[in-house]
Amino acid sequence: MKPEFQLAFLSKLQRLFAEGDFTATYKFALLIALADLSVEVGRDDNEPLKLPYRSIGLKFIQLYWQQAAPFTGGGVLVQNLGTQAAVVSAITEYRRKHPSLTLNTFQNGDGFQTLLSAVTATVKLQPVKYIQNLGGGQDVFLFESGKDGITLLPGVGYCLRRFQPLVQQLARSHWLDHIRGNKRNLPLLGEDDDLELFLFETPRQALTTISSGLRKIRSKCHYCDGTVKEADVDHFIPRSLYPRDLMHNFVLAHPSCNRSKSDTLAAKPHLMRWMEFIYTHDNDLKEIGFEAGIKSDAPTTISVARWGYSNALSSGGQAWIKAAQYEPLECTYMGLWE
Ligand SMILES: [Zn+2]
Repeated sequence: MKPEFQLAFLSKLQRLFAEGDFTATYKFALLIALADLSVEVGRDDNEPLKLPYRSIGLKFIQLYWQQAAPFTGGGVLVQNLGTQAAVVSAITEYRRKHPSLTLNTFQNGDGFQTLLSAVTATVKLQPVKYIQNLGGGQDVFLFESGKDGITLLPGVGYCLRRFQPLVQQLARSHWLDHIRGNKRNLPLLGEDDDLELFLFETPRQALTTISSGLRKIRSKCHYCDGTVKEADVDHFIPRSLYPRDLMHNFVLAHPSCNRSKSDTLAAKPHLMRWMEFIYTHDNDLKEIGFEAGIKSDAPTTISVARWGYSNALSSGGQAWIKAAQYEPLECTYMGLWE
């Protein structure tokens, strides 16, 4: 992919945030959905990528699931400048009917297909239709839309994979500003609220469940193999690269090992141990995910990891060995996915 194309893509994206019309938060969700799907099902080539509307609709339900619950015990946050965004109302209603469903199990409720169809229809009619309208005209730089789905233009999937952290950060911070800037949310928002946590992060309660579940499998630090008393739940593929929480991406680590690894990818021995761990304990991890209400999806987690390493490799990244010790990533890492 030519650097000129990548630069042009980034400046279009900048224009989209600067000039796009954001009456609702849907466009942010759509950008995140496209970036996630490019990582999860796309490839490192320049080919167009076809994405069915339903798979985007499903992403919307995942993204808005937590947000459609009442914020810190009050009302549901408003995600549109007019009446509440239809997607949020539909999910709120569905959640009311099925209070025990979680991000792990939301597909199991009565009426889920109806919800998915309604959300998919809104996605198709609104953000898909309008996201490429910039400054009064249409600039088709992301995708062409068809009857059953959209097709990312050649090179767009590549750029979304390459710049996933950037797209995520931009979309999330604008999303956050949108909700804060909506006067109707003011009564719900305090000065020092944890809005960002609520919108985008796994609740602490779930992390506690994950931590105690992982301890039952193996109460050692994933990285140094030392016994853990106090333990952090670490994102094996750092959150800064891929912020969506998947159960198989969690490992137990000493707070010090976790801090030292920080936002870096782990070196080969850790990676091999992680792969072995998730193959051996697939069922245990699924069970913990179920209890914690966190999506578990081993194949997706593995392709996300492959993407993470290959992306870092192509930009000359380092891998973390232990405190203050790194090594350059090498092609041999990629052999682990063969
Ligand atoms: Zn450790």
